Amino acid sequence: MKAFYHQDQSQHFPKFYMKNGKPIAAREVPERGDIFRNVLSELGIEIEETQDHGFSFISKVHSPDYLTFLQTIYPKWKKLPDASEEIIPKSHPVRYSASYPSDVVGQVGWHLMDTSCPVGPGTWSGVYASAQTAISAADSIAKGTTKTAYAVCRPPGHHAYPDGGAGFCFLNNSAIAAERLLETYPRVAILDVDLHHGNGTQAVFWNRRDVLTVSIHADPANCYPHYWGYAHERGEGSGYGFNLNYPVPEGTTDKDYLPVLEQALEQIQSYAPDAIILALGLDASEKDPFAVLGITTEGFAEIGKRVDDLGLPTLIVQEGGYISPVLGDNLGAVLKAFSER
Ligand SMILES: [Zn+2]
Repeated sequence: MKAFYHQDQSQHFPKFYMKNGKPIAAREVPERGDIFRNVLSELGIEIEETQDHGFSFISKVHSPDYLTFLQTIYPKWKKLPDASEEIIPKSHPVRYSASYPSDVVGQVGWHLMDTSCPVGPGTWSGVYASAQTAISAADSIAKGTTKTAYAVCRPPGHHAYPDGGAGFCFLNNSAIAAERLLETYPRVAILDVDLHHGNGTQAVFWNRRDVLTVSIHADPANCYPHYWGYAHERGEGSGYGFNLNYPVPEGTTDKDYLPVLEQALEQIQSYAPDAIILALGLDASEKDPFAVLGITTEGFAEIGKRVDDLGLPTLIVQEGGYISPVLGDNLGAVLKAFSER
């Protein structure tokens, strides 16, 4: 197994996000990356240098206006009177027909889809490096240098839409990596096991059948992202039937989760992908600060084992999963299933 990380990722260092109307300390912080890299060193997995692949794959997923926004908005924001240190939107053009605004505050509301994506001075460097980490890991698989690669992506990406950031995510690392894999493999499956529905990834491939998107997550009826992640969302046009959602009730533990995973894996096998991306959120953990699902470290080991059993070239992309006493153990449990490769 090969692993990838870039030091610039730590430049994205958000300080807070809004929860129940109050600012609380950010959970998606650089220390997560330190924990993940410690696990790699304990397992004796060397971290490879991330290569800069430029915009070739990023711009297949994200719109030019959004990429321009991410690169240029911070200095413009700081020129506003009494501007905050981190950018937070005050309004969003949800529903009804809307037009792209020319002013800074309007663009912030257009491209930052919720209040969980504070943009700071190092955000662009961090999210760009995180995307390059995902591409580099995909590239190593596609070139045949390894059968499994782990991309230590933070910030994560699966809530990011083609033209907007949401839920701690800015660039959709898993979707961008899929674009790299598609240059080599005709069909790619993405299995997202994060606590939260992979709504951004679903949106990117909504009309496509070259990427099967499968997400197992807490029921959005009472969990973020609230508006997406229901079982009836199956894709559209030629992508109809190529998006599968498996919402599970709050409090689900290994016993009821693993049979759902089996159903999802059956569908993936019927798709017969040439490669798979495991969008590895670890926040379904029983000890995660989100405290919604009850997956144990043994449960995560089982997730790793069953994905490994597919025998496919596998890219593991880090998504969510926040600091708890078992965060590193859970990552280690998944990676160990693949470490013989
Ligand atoms: Zn999550």
